[in-house]
Amino acid sequence: MNNLSSKVYQTAFMQLITAYERWFKGISKRPTFKRKKDGDSFTVFHSNGVVLIRPEALSKKGRKVFGSPQFQPLKKIKIPTLGTFRLKEPLDANYATQTFTISRQGNKWFVSFIIRAEKLPPLSHEVVKPTGIDLGIINFATLSDGRIYEAPKPMNKAKHKLAKFQWRNRNKQLRRSAKSPTISNRAKKFHQKLANFHGNIANIRHDFLHKTTTEISRKYAHIRIEDLNVQGMIANKKLSAAISDLGFYEFRRQLEYKQTMYATTVEIVDRWYPSSKRCSSCGTLNKNLKLSDREFYCANPSCGFRCDRDLNAAHNLSIAPAEFVRLARPEITPVDKKEPAPLEKSSKKGKKREADTKVV
Ligand SMILES: [Zn+2]
Repeated sequence: MNNLSSKVYQTAFMQLITAYERWFKGISKRPTFKRKKDGDSFTVFHSNGVVLIRPEALSKKGRKVFGSPQFQPLKKIKIPTLGTFRLKEPLDANYATQTFTISRQGNKWFVSFIIRAEKLPPLSHEVVKPTGIDLGIINFATLSDGRIYEAPKPMNKAKHKLAKFQWRNRNKQLRRSAKSPTISNRAKKFHQKLANFHGNIANIRHDFLHKTTTEISRKYAHIRIEDLNVQGMIANKKLSAAISDLGFYEFRRQLEYKQTMYATTVEIVDRWYPSSKRCSSCGTLNKNLKLSDREFYCANPSCGFRCDRDLNAAHNLSIAPAEFVRLARPEITPVDKKEPAPLEKSSKKGKKREADTKVV
């Protein structure tokens, strides 16, 4: 414990308290120990309230004005109790913050901090009527107005590269054995590279999910998605890899928590509503439709409706009757899993300073 700052332990215990409180209130499950593979991270904070982080470069003549041509932002950040660190990218503005979370992904280190900022919802949405979203493996998301979001292709490419990399290193002795108790340098390099591969794939996925959900939340005011039985789908071996990889659950979670930011309404359509087998034109159920059929055809000969399978499902979701629809309950904290909750208060002094500083 002497090797590390006491703040590291303090935040860990504070987060434990929040975790138990959430468990007692029935919001979340009982806290479990963090797994090593879920990411290395810790949080430190400045004990006297918020501090201002400035990207200004200090010259001999004095501080150069932000935005002027001579201005060159410093690629440095001062983290309380740890010291000053070099940044890969300069900061783009001044920020006031108190907590800093340091995390590692592969051999890359990240610092994240919480700022107070208001997110203004768009003044009006382009589409107000209910819009159904069907999630699938071939097309990631199909909207009832015909819009299609495809999963990013680089992800497939990166995965292919990863598989090749693992295959080429299949004969390396990578783990400790009784004969050689120390890990070889080559094994270390392998693990480092492997972690980087996984990090890249995760970054592509996160980027895609965030951009898609934001775009949808900005354009459509009334969103309807199917209550996916993700657990059940993952149990299906053929579908499992494709689904757990695409992040359907994460997609839904992001749409739900972005409700407050973009003033949208997200509704969940019951799992038992026959969205894929029902004809969106006349309402007849086609029970002969197979999972492999890419096109929906109506079983009623007098109707004869034909349509893309996913589009038909999206249509059905948008017109689902009220008894199948319920409002999505967003998670209480709209923060991504890794980030900790902001510190509430520390001292009177800090509070005063907080009021004085403004986020640019
Ligand atoms: Zn029909």
